[in-house]
Amino acid sequence: HAKEQGRNNYQFYERRFSTSVSARLNLENRLRRALERDEFEVYYQPQVETATGEFVGLEALLRWRDPEHGLVSPDEFVPVAEDSGLIVPIGEWVLRTACRQNQAWRSARLLDVPVAVNLSARQFDEHTLLGTVAAILDETGLPPQRLELELTETLIMRNPELTAELLDAGKRLGILISVDDFGTGYSSLAYLKRFPIDRLKIDRSFIADIETEPDDAAIAQTIIAMAHTLRIDVLAEGVETVAQLRMLRNWQCSAYQGYLCSHPLPTHEMTALLRGLRAAHMLGLPEVGHA
Ligand code: C2E
Ligand code: MG
Ligand code: MG
Ligand code: MG
Repeated sequence: HAKEQGRNNYQFYERRFSTSVSARLNLENRLRRALERDEFEVYYQPQVETATGEFVGLEALLRWRDPEHGLVSPDEFVPVAEDSGLIVPIGEWVLRTACRQNQAWRSARLLDVPVAVNLSARQFDEHTLLGTVAAILDETGLPPQRLELELTETLIMRNPELTAELLDAGKRLGILISVDDFGTGYSSLAYLKRFPIDRLKIDRSFIADIETEPDDAAIAQTIIAMAHTLRIDVLAEGVETVAQLRMLRNWQCSAYQGYLCSHPLPTHEMTALLRGLRAAHMLGLPEVGHA
């Protein structure tokens, strides 16, 4: 039985965190307790320049270390955290933790790149969002240009007026803005151009089959070319093979994220990786992330 669970974690959680009202309430209570008991963790995944293999950013990804079920992925609990509003304090915790950690890596001279934090609609609706961001930057000492906020297309397009206002204020603060899961929602690049967006992240569903599906390859290549025209930076999500990386590099997609370089790592493992990279760099060895 345990073996079966190990093989299929998803079904395991599907069964545990079922969708019945009482189960959702139970999960909600457990999430509230998790926040009080400090059971959340932030993992970090490198964002890599396709041309050089250098790290150009990190994405902060939330995890829950549930004492009962072990490490739980955000897809299993973020929807409930959003419905209950708990994503607001949890999201603020992620923001503070990621900014503090990024500043620690900068201070240790291990890395000096932006950390990207995912934002949910509920946080976006809080009128205090940018005040919170500014306070956290101030408190942690992280320069604004070393923080990036990731918003989905759906969130951006839901209320274009509010989005424009918030993003303009974000720009005045000096932070970076990126569009997550690009291509899965409804928006046009031309429309997006009206917002101060620094970067598009092409959803991994378009990247997965670029080697074998000419349509997917055409879509990815077209998004990259249009982003170039509009002078928006572009990153491919979910890159797992050298062949995919080679295609993306040929299309001049500037950066990628994916298991090819690294899974998301807990803080101590990321620190160890960065130390190793710095040591290699000092010896004049090529970057490890370069495939
Ligand atoms: P996302 O922002 O699109 O994050 C990328 C997801 O793709 C991550 O899943 C990452 O582990 C996964 N990934 C990275 N490289 C590869 C690859 O090569 N292949 C495959 N198959 N997957 C890859 P993760 O960490 O489970 O996060 C899932 C989603 O949960 C995120 O998607 C994001 O929408 C949400 N999320 C994560 N952290 C937070 C957070 O702090 N706040 C909010 N509101 N949402 C979060
Ligand atoms: Mg993201
Ligand atoms: Mg994404
Ligand atoms: Mg996503």
